[in-house]
Amino acid sequence: MDACDEPDCSATLKELDVFLDDELSPEARTTISHHLDACPDCLSAFDFHAELKQVIHQKCLNDEMPADLLSRIEKCFNTDFDGDGKIG
Ligand SMILES: [Zn+2]
Repeated sequence: MDACDEPDCSATLKELDVFLDDELSPEARTTISHHLDACPDCLSAFDFHAELKQVIHQKCLNDEMPADLLSRIEKCFNTDFDGDGKIG
């Protein structure tokens, strides 16, 4: 089965960041966990995202990331990496 033809995949990927930030309801977390168990494509996207988020967050904390670079990365991933509530 080509798992990423499932509508679940786009929904899962959309929730990745919220999932990583621990801001989902328990039901939504369970849904995503089950999907990740069954879908290697989303799991690798998830791993990549989690790692990237951690690295970028670390660099933000240490002030190693130029603000314009960070905002470009945020736009690219459509993700609020530094937790300031906005993309870019
Ligand atoms: Zn998937």
